[in-house]
Amino acid sequence: MTERLYLDTVIADNLARIHETMAAACIEAGRAIDSVSLLAVTKTVDPQRINQAIHAGVQQIGENRVQEYLSKIDELDIEPQKAHLIGHLQTNKVRQIVGKVGMIQSVDSLRLAEAISNRSEQLGIVTPVLVEVNIGGEEAKSGVAPTELEELLCQIGGFGGIQVRGLMTVPPILHTEYEKRQIFSKMYRLFVDISGKKLDNIGMQELSMGMSGDYREAILEGSTMVRVGSALFGMRQY
Ligand SMILES: *Cc1c(COP(=O)(O)O)cnc(C)c1O
Repeated sequence: MTERLYLDTVIADNLARIHETMAAACIEAGRAIDSVSLLAVTKTVDPQRINQAIHAGVQQIGENRVQEYLSKIDELDIEPQKAHLIGHLQTNKVRQIVGKVGMIQSVDSLRLAEAISNRSEQLGIVTPVLVEVNIGGEEAKSGVAPTELEELLCQIGGFGGIQVRGLMTVPPILHTEYEKRQIFSKMYRLFVDISGKKLDNIGMQELSMGMSGDYREAILEGSTMVRVGSALFGMRQY
């Protein structure tokens, strides 16, 4: 009992602190406080603790792995439409996840976009997606290269089962505030550039960037959605 109460306050306190930091960053950047939303990243977190966060005010969650998410879904006090898939998605898992989340943020290939679209059409739904960009150009990271983004968007704009809502990125781990802001600013410029092209059937409302270690900098540079895990739930235990 004592431990349960303790956890409740820790998560609620962390959430309050994150909201304060987000609001302060919005004010510093001259942006409206409601222009950035929080996605609580719940990978490795058990349903009971996720629900504590939801009861403390979390309105949307992000999960990385299809299997892990599906194993928790029935126990969560949140509608599946408020859950986003943010981890790399293999084409052979598309069948299992489409219709069970409100958004897929990790689309980074034509093949994957096509698979999500086809499955969505089978179910008679349209799945909102973000295209993941590898802004740091890192070898081992998923995401489309900035130079290939426009071509991919043009190819997938015609797919009837998906609706592109914007971009997502996981930048390299950077240490100084200056470096963090530089990479987020590069991403924001790409986002604005692409928005300006007004590609057919491509929406650019969401720019998902910023995690526990850098969400303040991401907001200063134009993020509309931050994905925060460990700052809310504590260090992950794998
Ligand atoms: C784990 C993860 C996060 C959250 O990371 P924290 O540093 O714990 O906030 C955000 N986005 C993606 C894609 C992740 O995999």
